[in-house]
Amino acid sequence: MKDTLIQQGRRNNLIRLLNQKGITDKNVLEAMRNTPRHWFMDTGLEEWAYEDKAYPIAANQTISQPYTVAFQSSLLQTKKGDKVLEIGTGSGYQTAVLIEMGLELYTIERQHELFKKTSLLFNKLKKKPKKLIFGDGYKGFSTKAPYDAILVTAGSESIPERLLEQLKIGGRLVIPVGKKDQEMWEYTRISEEDYDKKNHGAFNFVPLLEGINI
Ligand code: SAH
Repeated sequence: MKDTLIQQGRRNNLIRLLNQKGITDKNVLEAMRNTPRHWFMDTGLEEWAYEDKAYPIAANQTISQPYTVAFQSSLLQTKKGDKVLEIGTGSGYQTAVLIEMGLELYTIERQHELFKKTSLLFNKLKKKPKKLIFGDGYKGFSTKAPYDAILVTAGSESIPERLLEQLKIGGRLVIPVGKKDQEMWEYTRISEEDYDKKNHGAFNFVPLLEGINI
């Protein structure tokens, strides 16, 4: 896998831009500096990999905008070694950034085409998720629960109860909620029964859908 000086230079400029847009978490910025986004995009779009924009990937889905990846990764407030579940693997870019942050990563994708494509890609990379799961993220992944953090990368109409249940006490769920447009919500589990909620403003995601698509 190639990463030219030009691509590295463009990536440094993107990191500077994200910092100007208010991303200050050094662990996140460094992880993004060390993760070539063009590896996760179609070759025809590579040239735009370091624009702060979302682009199409397979199965009518999108690779998230770098600012969104940075923002969501910061909200997780994780430390190295934390166990994290991601819903919506997609291209694998957000997954790779979280792995680069030193997290133990589990990730779920419902589109079989993307699951296959991204599994093959991770086989070629040095760092991989602990497990890439083909399934419905609404259900979470109870085998490895509870998690220090759960990140949803698609817009959900409501808060999936099963995801809240799979958080450790003190753990966080970061999830965009809304039908057409979404608001970014952070849920922190403060006891068996109670959650603290914070709204972090407007974003735009492809929808979180129930069931799998083979
Ligand atoms: N983090 C990804 C985002 C991809 S878009 C990236 O930057 O590439 C969101 C992804 O969530 C899509 O791939 C979509 O298929 C997936 N998705 C939607 N509903 C899901 C569900 N219920 N379970 C698992 N994945 C889901």
